[in-house]
Amino acid sequence: MNKKSRDNSKSPLRMTRQRRVILDELRKVTSHPTADEIYNMVRRRLPGISLGTVYRNLEILSGNGMIQKIESSGSARRYDGNVKIHYHVRCVRCGRVDDLPLSTLPVLERAVRKGCGYEILGYSLEFVGICPNCGKLPKTKKERQDKNGTQRK
Ligand SMILES: [Zn+2]
Ligand SMILES: [Zn+2]
Repeated sequence: MNKKSRDNSKSPLRMTRQRRVILDELRKVTSHPTADEIYNMVRRRLPGISLGTVYRNLEILSGNGMIQKIESSGSARRYDGNVKIHYHVRCVRCGRVDDLPLSTLPVLERAVRKGCGYEILGYSLEFVGICPNCGKLPKTKKERQDKNGTQRK
C-alpha cells in the first residue's frame, strides 16, 4: 500500500451529486438498508438513477470508509451511514439489523490489540436473534429443533 492511499482520511473523494444524495439518504436512517432499499430512497430525489449506479457508489463509499458495509452469509448486504464502531443485532428470520444501545467495550479492544500481534484497524460485532416482529410469529420447525430445550415458554 503506498502512502497516498493509506492516509486517505482527508483525501477528497470526488463527491458527485449522486454520491452525495446516496450518502445523505443513508445517514438519515438507522435501518441499515439494502442496496435496493437505498435505491428506492434515492430515486425520489434522483429519478434517473439506476440500481447499478447506486451499487457502484455504495461500493466506492464503503471502500473509502465513508459508510459501513454489513455482510453476513445468507442475507442481503446492508449499509450503514454510521461509521463509528457500534454493535449490531440481526434477525435470523427477516434479516433486519438494528444498532445495539451499548457503548463499546474498550476492555475488549485493548485485550485484542495486545493479544494477537495484528495491527487492528477495526472490527464488527454482531449478535443474532429474532426481532420483535418475527418473535410474534410461531417458531419454524427448524428453530424449535435448534433451540431444543432452551426456548422460552
Ligand atoms: Zn425479524
Ligand atoms: Zn449500525
